[in-house]
Amino acid sequence: MEYQPIIGLEIHIQLKTKSKMFCTCDNVSEDIEPNTNVCPVCMGQPGVLPVTNTQAIDWAVLSALALGCKIPSFSKFDRKNYFYPDLPKGYQISQYDKPIGINGQLILEYLDKNKKLVQRKVQIKRVHLEEDAAKLVHDPTTKFSLVDFNRAGTPLLEIVTEPDLRSSLGAKISMQELRDIFRYLDVSNCDMEKGQLRCDANISLKPEGKETLSAKTEIKNLNSFRAVEKALEYEIERQTKLWNGGKPPKEPSTRGWDDAKQISYEMRVKEEVSDYRYFPEPDLPPLEFTKDYVKEIKLKLPELPHQKRERLIKQYELGFPEAKMIASDRLIGEFYEGVLSELREWLSSLGEKEKKIEEGIKKLRKLTASWIVRDLFKHLSEEKIGMEQCRITPENFAEFVTYIYKEEISGPAAKIVFAEMFNRGADPSHVIDEKNLKQVSDKGELDKIVEKVIKANPKPQEDYKKGKEQALQFLVGQVMKETKGKANPKIVADILKEKLS
Ligand code: ZN
Ligand code: MN
Repeated sequence: MEYQPIIGLEIHIQLKTKSKMFCTCDNVSEDIEPNTNVCPVCMGQPGVLPVTNTQAIDWAVLSALALGCKIPSFSKFDRKNYFYPDLPKGYQISQYDKPIGINGQLILEYLDKNKKLVQRKVQIKRVHLEEDAAKLVHDPTTKFSLVDFNRAGTPLLEIVTEPDLRSSLGAKISMQELRDIFRYLDVSNCDMEKGQLRCDANISLKPEGKETLSAKTEIKNLNSFRAVEKALEYEIERQTKLWNGGKPPKEPSTRGWDDAKQISYEMRVKEEVSDYRYFPEPDLPPLEFTKDYVKEIKLKLPELPHQKRERLIKQYELGFPEAKMIASDRLIGEFYEGVLSELREWLSSLGEKEKKIEEGIKKLRKLTASWIVRDLFKHLSEEKIGMEQCRITPENFAEFVTYIYKEEISGPAAKIVFAEMFNRGADPSHVIDEKNLKQVSDKGELDKIVEKVIKANPKPQEDYKKGKEQALQFLVGQVMKETKGKANPKIVADILKEKLS
């Protein structure tokens, strides 16, 4: 029997507002002493009153709009009651029946395991605002659990999808797409390692062709893209076994994911909504959004990742994989276009005809994209830095690309120049001079060297004349060696062919 996984996601995103959700404490919880960034409000002292952070509201509306949500004119906060040591008030201020945004969608485009382009829309049920809980630190040696309240009260955006996903890969891609969107909006850094982007995944299996679903399992606190994918793969396998054994899950349950062991484990049988005893938060006024206000926020929406992807493909004829990578980061997308506009200017300054410029720009677009996708991304991830810390300017990058375009530096030399540009923000022309990397394309100069190499290697010369193509490669290699890698291999091969024919 085949089973289809039915997957929905609940995502939490920490907003990087200046202050916390309902008090004036700074909104920073990392790299500071535990419990030093707290006040009576976020500590949940009796008698204190919360005040709504308007920046968080604006950003929540912006986020909901970016996800194509409708913004109802009325919204309010509610208390979600439960007891846990990381929740000092005994309730979390959240939103129940009147969230900020409803009925949105997440547009996914990705290559599946067979490299086939998948396009699908995941419906967004709701987007709401709430406060983050404190952080529990479990000390394995003393067996004590300690509470750090620095995180308590951080604004959290919760996004709930409909169960529209059908694969673990789709779930992972959804999370990556959300990260890209929220970084574009500049409302969260979405660093999963730091817990700024977190995910709970709901999954149940449906036997192919039938309508019956098993009870859903919720996997809690998945904190890396890999964990989202792996945990779901594991659950699909585990639940398939249960179905095949004639015992599909009957009760909804909550499970955790052990990343070290790569297994999920049962935590508890899931609470029902009624267990939370939601009721309206009496200390906060409800929210009313006028049409003008929503319009004003809408004007602040930037071009979004999927829009940029589409445009890069259309406007610059990029392939999907390149467009997806370049559009995944707003700054890299801007960088790419900055480099291209420099290159277009350079081409026009050469005084070429319009047609020649168009041909040139086509080559330069591809060349630039491949150096960004292959080399820039590699260097950024090796250095573990973001594009905002990259030392290469669009001007220098464009100049660098012109050297390759004009075949003035060889492939290996280009790698050296690029590394120097990346590591110290060096000007490409300086690196080429400094390291004497300019490719020798001068025919007269190469002619002499080729003569010398042919004389010194009679055997390969004979072999080539007998039809052995490899012998030519050997001779090209000898010329490269003679010139310390600076000869233009294409021109060398041409000269060799001419002389040996
Ligand atoms: Zn506070
Ligand atoms: Mn929540």
